[in-house]
Amino acid sequence: MSETHPVTRPGRTIAVLTSGGDAPGMNAAVRAVVRTALARGQRVYAIREGYEGAVSGGDRIVPMTWASVGGILHQGGTSIGTARSERFRTREGRLQAAENFLKAGIDSLVVIGGDGSLSGADALRQEWRGLVDELVASGRVDAGTASTAIPFSIVGLVGSIDNDMSGTDITIGADTALHRITEAVDAIASTAASHQRTFVIEVMGRHCGYLALMGAIATGASFVLIPESPPDVDDWQATMCERLHTGRQAGRRDSIVIVAEGARDRHGNAITAEHVRKVLEERLHEDVRVTILGHVQRGGAPSAFDRYMSTLLGHAAVEELLLSPPGSEPQLIGMRDNRVTRQPLMQCVEKTRKVAECVKSGDYPGAMALRGRGFASALSTLRTIVRALPHPPTEGQKRFRFAIMHGGGPAPGMNTAVRAALRLTLDRGHHVLGVRHAFKGLVEGDFFEMGWMTVNGWASRGGAELGTNRRQPADRELYQIARHVEKHEIDGILLIGGWSGYAAIAKLHAERERFPAFNLPMICLPASINNNLPGSELSIGSDTALNNIVGAVDKIKTSAVASQRCFVVEVMGRRCGYLALLSGLATGAERIYMHEDGVTLAHLQHDLETLKEGFRRGKRLGLLIRNEDANPFYTTPFMCALFEQEGGELFDVRQAILGHLQQGGDPSPFDRILATRMAAASVEYLIAEAGKGPTGAAAFIGLREGKLTLTPFDEMPRLMDCTNDRPKEQWWRQLAPIAELLAAPAPPAA
Ligand code: ATP
Repeated sequence: MSETHPVTRPGRTIAVLTSGGDAPGMNAAVRAVVRTALARGQRVYAIREGYEGAVSGGDRIVPMTWASVGGILHQGGTSIGTARSERFRTREGRLQAAENFLKAGIDSLVVIGGDGSLSGADALRQEWRGLVDELVASGRVDAGTASTAIPFSIVGLVGSIDNDMSGTDITIGADTALHRITEAVDAIASTAASHQRTFVIEVMGRHCGYLALMGAIATGASFVLIPESPPDVDDWQATMCERLHTGRQAGRRDSIVIVAEGARDRHGNAITAEHVRKVLEERLHEDVRVTILGHVQRGGAPSAFDRYMSTLLGHAAVEELLLSPPGSEPQLIGMRDNRVTRQPLMQCVEKTRKVAECVKSGDYPGAMALRGRGFASALSTLRTIVRALPHPPTEGQKRFRFAIMHGGGPAPGMNTAVRAALRLTLDRGHHVLGVRHAFKGLVEGDFFEMGWMTVNGWASRGGAELGTNRRQPADRELYQIARHVEKHEIDGILLIGGWSGYAAIAKLHAERERFPAFNLPMICLPASINNNLPGSELSIGSDTALNNIVGAVDKIKTSAVASQRCFVVEVMGRRCGYLALLSGLATGAERIYMHEDGVTLAHLQHDLETLKEGFRRGKRLGLLIRNEDANPFYTTPFMCALFEQEGGELFDVRQAILGHLQQGGDPSPFDRILATRMAAASVEYLIAEAGKGPTGAAAFIGLREGKLTLTPFDEMPRLMDCTNDRPKEQWWRQLAPIAELLAAPAPPAA
């Protein structure tokens, strides 16, 4: 992720604007731009109403202070306004904007918008010298002001719910839009199931099927239509009807078809939601309803991811401006493989437009290739798991029997992973046995054969239907496990779980010489809200937990607006500070206590003084986030008592121990998508390894730098800090300075 660089060239005056369609998370980016710039000693302005404000000037160009961006992190939309500006499209408009910028001393611009907005910024940058000369020649700007002008610099961040930009894996707002879509589709699915109705749901995406595709994966929709990959047959209506009909016959009560706004058939003819409804009514004689989600997808509070990702991007944008020479090639700051990256902005814009052109001209393979491998494999996984029934096994094929089980605490997304793993395995002609209640079931032989429809509806369901717990098998129980494995002729085990599940699988793997039954492929898929598992930067459930925390903190904060109050919020994670740090970044907590950093009396004393000073200067709310195991003695009640007593009349203190609400609820869209991706790769591994015979291979799967990777179990001791049950390397710890910087009290100059 982004590093904090020293300032190499002070004295920039940076403006930030949001342009084009609004996107949740824009506020987090604006806040990060403003505060990073101020903390680095730069002047910073916000341009209200996008380029329209730049052209109008006057009170649309507002000097920003530390406090100007307080309290906006959790708000949807953009607090500095956005617009589409016809005037800025003309040279005359840009001349006027240049005059306004020159007069305010603005030499750098952070643009947060779509490809149109980013092109607009580039046009201004390219014309800058000519515009300055013209302004001087016409007397609109005096030569003195013009002589201080340096080449104009720009940096772009992509704000767009469609996730339609090349150069970044995800755009600001797309994750929140997926939240809105999954909430809506989940809600519709329950009423659809009650009446055995079919719903056609239209989601945004004129050129990009990201929201439709990921929305379908996340909700278990029955059919999806997207612009980049139209159905490959002319009578796609027949395929769709057959799919839905077979689903009904197999026992499916709800049928959901998701249609992207820009969906089309292979000849380029638009496929609208209304068209799909008519087809289904005429051919299936069903009661079909259409829901067009529309602007709901743009609205509402940003997701946890959109808050912290946009914060990191905004911070990196200012660092980029301060490090690059004036007027250098503009960069787009985005996320690639879970890291903040920079890429030439106009190349990204051109590539983005190329996808749209490919779709328009009917070059669908070209469009899919430009979208990248992840998109194509997501589509192919979706096509399998939404089938009404699996493909029959091929004649003479060896049909393996795999066991799927959990182990460890519950994590939202476990059911989604089981569903995907089961269906992908059955579709390849193999058998799946579910093991109930984790290792307890393995010891007791509580196995059952799972069928295609066993997991109907599991994509969106929280909890763990197979049952999970932290029980580890005792040495004396290994014999029983070995017997059950042999009796049920298990060819491989997929464990979807947390640290105690991993440890138990490690034990079986280590005992394979004593118990040859354990000489079978085993794979662990990380599912734990704590995000403390080896070989993966993220585990399933942690994104849901973060969203649960962020939602709870939003409510806690609003309960205290009128009073001078400090909250100490305790979050889960055991000895891993991931939830504490990331929720701190996403909520703007001023202090984050983690086991990794330790807590000392000196820290508490310092924080107390900082709080007192803040409340003396008029602060109304304090927010401290504490990881549950940050320190065994300085507990949350202890800290609250200390701050309450020492804060005196200045402020009062309340504790909020969030507890199990963090583990509960339905999985977030990201957790559902990650669960599906990881399950698909785990199944591939098991099938491949089982095919090699009893090699005793065991691995854990994980997401590393955006890629799914397998790590052999023998690497566990090298990767894991087994005293504290967390990985030795924790990539997210480098984000702590950014959290600290942005939530710190205002620097004196601001
Ligand atoms: P969205 O993805 O939400 O549509 P966008 O940034 O692509 O966002 P546009 O309407 O294309 O939205 O552009 C927003 C504004 O950027 C325009 O109203 C215009 O002011 C400016 N702009 C776009 N393209 C150009 C251009 N080629 N030259 C100058 N300005 C432009």
